[in-house]
Amino acid sequence: MFAGKTEEFIRSIRRYTYAQFNVLVFKPEIDNRYSDEKIVSHAGASVDAITINSSKEIDDKVRSIKEKVDVVAIDEVQFIDEGIVKVACDMADRGIIVVVNGLDTDFKADPFKNVDKFLVQAEYVKKLSAICRVCGGNANRTQRIVNGNPARKDEPIILVSGNDHYEARCRHCYIKPK
Ligand SMILES: [Zn+2]
Repeated sequence: MFAGKTEEFIRSIRRYTYAQFNVLVFKPEIDNRYSDEKIVSHAGASVDAITINSSKEIDDKVRSIKEKVDVVAIDEVQFIDEGIVKVACDMADRGIIVVVNGLDTDFKADPFKNVDKFLVQAEYVKKLSAICRVCGGNANRTQRIVNGNPARKDEPIILVSGNDHYEARCRHCYIKPK
């Protein structure tokens, strides 16, 4: 989070688009921070994306396209069902370039589903780090903050915005939720 991963994801998609590759971009429905039909970075870059509710929808869509699909890019893979790993690997086996974007750990510093498996399956991994909000060091953790304090493991989600947020922290400034 806050590491510019969406910016980097959009940049890699654009490289394939400029190269005249046939690119399909997907994102899970849950992610509607900025736009329903687009993936938008904090810096304002955007690409069109197909919103899906399951890994099967991606598989069906890609198989339904008559012309050759060169690249399939999938955002926020940690929020898609676990079938996505097999769907993506099968596409790669068929010669499609698959680019996935996701967070490696949640606010408890536990591995996110799917991303843990993609880290093993992928030929190339680009790991980005943010800047620690406390000390300015390299941040590879996400601290969930509720009412100004690090959240407990089981702290309920507060829907009133402003009382519940996330910040990037390094391993030294991160406080493991109890
Ligand atoms: Zn720090």
